Amino acid sequence: MLTVNHDGASVESDLAGGRLACPGCRGRLRPWGWARERLVRHGTGAGLSLVRHRPRRGRCTGCAATHVLLGVELAARRADTAAVIAAAVEAKTATGAGHRRIAARLGRPASTVRGWLRAFAASAGPIAEVFTALAHRDGADAAGLWPAPAPTPAGRALAAVAAYAGVLAYRFSVATLAWQTAGLTASGPWFFSASGWVGREQHELALTPAPGDGKGGESAG
Ligand SMILES: [Zn+2]
Repeated sequence: MLTVNHDGASVESDLAGGRLACPGCRGRLRPWGWARERLVRHGTGAGLSLVRHRPRRGRCTGCAATHVLLGVELAARRADTAAVIAAAVEAKTATGAGHRRIAARLGRPASTVRGWLRAFAASAGPIAEVFTALAHRDGADAAGLWPAPAPTPAGRALAAVAAYAGVLAYRFSVATLAWQTAGLTASGPWFFSASGWVGREQHELALTPAPGDGKGGESAG
């Protein structure tokens, strides 16, 4: 599974043009049908809606593995958009609110929100390490955007990803880039899963071309 642009037309064109790289061997992915449909909760409050997503699938011309191409607004094995998960993580780190209060505000089950917060807290160490390194690698000319100190591991992780989002926004001259978009683009669909960070080392991501370089094909939504 890999994270791609949220714009389906651009994914089609990238697939057809062989511009998406296999996460396993960096070979070229070609169109290979569709993954199963999934229902995803978008938005909060009056804007809450259930949306059908059927991600594209690609097959590697090198190793023949197939990969689900998940739009950057979605996270692997999550029934809610990345924006809603990010809002919960922000609320936790900014205010220290409990998962029940955050869940009530977002209109999601408490157990679901507790799962998001636990996963982010459990992977806070590697996230902070990896994204601090990325921010330094790509943001040498943007020192003001480097991670700000934060009191908790989850806060430091969020600050590091936000700093990297700032570096990307600065580099590609866009006004803002949501931190979860930077997180998913750089580390893939398992960004919000603790299992996705087990054993992850800094050098692994450091070898990946920066989004937008036109080498990796993992475009910055
Ligand atoms: Zn491959």
